[in-house]
Amino acid sequence: MDAEAGLDRRHREALVRIRAREDAAFRARVPRSLELASRAGTRMPDGVPMAWMAGFYRTPVLWVSHGSGPVLTDVDGNDYVDFNVGDMSSVLGYAHPRLTEVIGERAAHGVQMFLPVEQALAVCDRLRQRFGLPYWQFTLSAGTANTEALRIARVATGRQGVLLFDGGYHGQLQETLWAGGEGGAPPAPEATGLGPLPPGLAVVDFNDLAAAERVLAQRRTAAVLIEGVLTNCGTVLPDPGFLPGLREACTRYGTLLAVDETHTQFDLYGGAVTRYRIAPDLVTGGKGIAGGIPIGCYGMTSALAGVIEANPADELGETVGLALGGTLFGNALSLACAEVVLSELMTRAEHDRIAGLGGRLSDGIEDAARAHGLAWCAHRFGARSGYCLFPERPRTAREAHRSLDPLFTDTRRVYFANRGVWDAISSAGPHAGFAHTDRDVDNYLGILDGFLDEMCAG
Ligand code: PMP
Repeated sequence: MDAEAGLDRRHREALVRIRAREDAAFRARVPRSLELASRAGTRMPDGVPMAWMAGFYRTPVLWVSHGSGPVLTDVDGNDYVDFNVGDMSSVLGYAHPRLTEVIGERAAHGVQMFLPVEQALAVCDRLRQRFGLPYWQFTLSAGTANTEALRIARVATGRQGVLLFDGGYHGQLQETLWAGGEGGAPPAPEATGLGPLPPGLAVVDFNDLAAAERVLAQRRTAAVLIEGVLTNCGTVLPDPGFLPGLREACTRYGTLLAVDETHTQFDLYGGAVTRYRIAPDLVTGGKGIAGGIPIGCYGMTSALAGVIEANPADELGETVGLALGGTLFGNALSLACAEVVLSELMTRAEHDRIAGLGGRLSDGIEDAARAHGLAWCAHRFGARSGYCLFPERPRTAREAHRSLDPLFTDTRRVYFANRGVWDAISSAGPHAGFAHTDRDVDNYLGILDGFLDEMCAG
C-alpha cells in the first residue's frame, strides 16, 4: 500500500464515527463540568471567563480543579496528563513544590509593592543570558510586552509602520491582528472590534525575504515583529538564511527587529534567536517564565534603553513620556517566581531534557504515521512537536493551515481526553513540559497508536 498524504474519505468517515462515540463518552465523564457550564451561562458570556474558551474546543468546556506535576484534574475528578501545557503558560507543570514555597514566602511579605523589588535584577540577568539583550522591562502578559516594544520602536525610529508575517500571533493587539491580503489587497483584520488598519502596517509570507525587503525599502517601517519560528498555525521553521537576511535588511533600512519568543523560549534554551544566531533589537516574551504567575517581559539594546530614558513620564504630567507600564506590572510576586523558575527550574540542562522529549514525540508521531501507511511528518522544534498531514513540512502559514484539520484535531483531543491525556489546541502540537518524563511520552504515543488504528481501519 502506498503511503497517503492528508486524510481521505475513509479516514474522515472513521473520524466522524470515533468523534460521535468519544463525545458521548466525554459528556458522560464530566457531569459537574456540564453543570458548572450551565450555571455560568447566566453570569459570563458563553459561560466562560475568557470568551475564546467557548470557541476553541468544540467539546463541552472542561472545568478544572487542580493539578500536580504534568497532570491536571477536572471538577469530576478525572486526571489528564497535559500535553497542551497551557499553550506554554503552565509548561513548568502544576504545583511545583519550589514554586509553591516561593509564592508562600512572597505572599508573607507582600505580593504587590508598586516599587521595585531586588529580584528584578536576577531576572534581567537570566534573560540576558538567554537572549543576549542587556536591558529589560516587565508587564503582565506577552501581548502587552509586544505593545510596549512597538511603541518604543516608533519613538526610536520616528516611523509608524509595522511589518508582520502571515500566521504569526502576538496577542490581542490592534497592530498585530492582521492577516496578509490576497493578491496585493491590504491586510485583513483577524478579529472584530479593531480600529482601522494602522498606518504602514504590512503583512507578508513567512520565509519570503524578498517581499519583506520590498516593504522595508519604503523606509516607513518602525519594527519587524516576528516569531523566529511560527508556532500558532502548527509549526513553520525559517529557511536557512531567512532570519539572518531579515536582520541584515532591517539594519540596512533603519528598521528595528523585534523577535517574539513567547513560545519559542520554551522550545529550546535561548529560543529562536539563539538557535538561528540572530541579534535582535528587541525580544518579547512571557507566559510560563514565572511558572504560571502572570508576567510579560521584553529586552532591548542599550540604544533603546536610551530612548526610554530620554522620554521620561512624570507624575505631574510636565513631560510627555513614552506610553509604557501598568499599575501591577513589575509585580513582586511575578518577579520572585521568575527568578526561581529561570535560575533553578528551567535550567539549560532541563531545557535540553525536554527538547529530547519533544524529539521523541516528533519521532513517535512519524513512526506511527508510517506504520499506518500515512505519508505525514511531524513538526519538530525542540520541545515542540505536532502533526503535519503531508510529507513536506510547511514553509508558509498557508501551507501550514492545510494540516489544521478540525475534524482530526477535535477527534484526537476527545479520544485522548477519554484516555487520560489532554492533547493540544488545534494550532499547536503536543509539547513536552518540564514535568514530563519519558513515561508520559510513551503513554501519549501508545494512545496515538490506538487512535490511528481505528482511523485507518476503515
Ligand atoms: N506572542 C506569541 C508568540 C503568542 O503565541 C502569544 C499567545 N499565544 C502571545 C504573544 C500573547 O500572549 P498573552 O496571551 O500572554 O498576552
